[in-house]
Amino acid sequence: MTDTAKVVAVTGASSGIGAATARRLAADGHRLFLGARRTDRLATLTEEITAAGGTAAYRRLDVTDADDVRAFVSAAHERHGRVDVLVNNAGVMPLSPLDALRTDEWDRMIDVNVRGVLHGIAAALPLMRAQGGGHLVTLASVGAYEVSPTAAVYCATKFAVRAISEGLRQESAGTVRVTLVSPGVTESELADGICDPTAREAMKSYRAVALPATAVAEAISYALAQPPHVDVNEIVVRPVVSA
Ligand code: NDP
Repeated sequence: MTDTAKVVAVTGASSGIGAATARRLAADGHRLFLGARRTDRLATLTEEITAAGGTAAYRRLDVTDADDVRAFVSAAHERHGRVDVLVNNAGVMPLSPLDALRTDEWDRMIDVNVRGVLHGIAAALPLMRAQGGGHLVTLASVGAYEVSPTAAVYCATKFAVRAISEGLRQESAGTVRVTLVSPGVTESELADGICDPTAREAMKSYRAVALPATAVAEAISYALAQPPHVDVNEIVVRPVVSA
C-alpha cells in the first residue's frame, strides 16, 4: 500500500457506477469495502478485484436502514482501522409523471436517494472526525440542477443531496472533504427500474448517448487523488452529444 492509499467504502457497488468505481479505486491502490443488497454480485466483484491484485471485501447493505448503514461503516472501520472515504452511491430511479401517482415509488426514491445518503453521513462523520479527517463523496445527477418531465421526484432527491452536500461542506471545512459527483446519462442498470411506460419510452433516446460508467469512476478517482488541502466540491460529467 502506498501512503496515498485510502480505505474506501462504496454503497451500491453491485452494478453500474458503484462497481466501476470499486474497480477503478482498487486499481488506484485503495482498499475497498463494498455494500449493496445483491451479495452474489459483490462476491464476484470482490474476487475480480482481488485476483487483479487489489484489496476488497464486502458486506450486505440496505441503505434505507440507518442501523445497517452504521454496521456497514463500522465493519469497514473494524477491518482496516479507519474509513477515509465513503462513496454514497446507492440510488434508484423509477421515473413516472406525477399524475401517475406512483406514491410507493416516490417513497422508495426518497428512502434510498435521500435518507440513504443521510444514513451514510450519520455513520461516517463521527468516525472521520475522530480519526482527524475523511472524505464524503455523494452521487447526485444533472437532475440536481434541472428538472425534466417524469423526473420531478427523482430530481427532487438529487436537489436534496446537493443541498445536503453543500451544507456539509460549509460546516465541515478543515475536517472532512466533501465532493458531489453529478453524471448525465450513464450506462448502468438504473433505468431498468422504470415501470411507467411513458417514462420507459422517453428513456430509450437518452440511453443511446450514455457515458460509460468508467467515466464517472474516473471523476471520483480524480477527487480522491487531490492533496489534503484541495477539496473538489462538485463535478458534473455529461456525454458529448452531437448538435
Ligand atoms: P445501478 O442501478 O446500476 O446501481 C445502483 C446501485 O444502488 C446498485 O448497486 C444497487 O444495488 C444499489 N441500491 C439500490 N437500492 C439500494 C438499497 N436500498 N441499499 C443498498 N444499495 C442499493 O445504477 P447507477 O450505477 O447508474 O447508479 C448509481 C448512482 O448514480 C445513483 O445514485 C444514481 O442516481 C446516480 N446517477 C446515475 C446516472 C445514470 O444515468 N446511470 C446519472 C446520474 C446519477 P442492489 O440492488 O444490489 O442493492
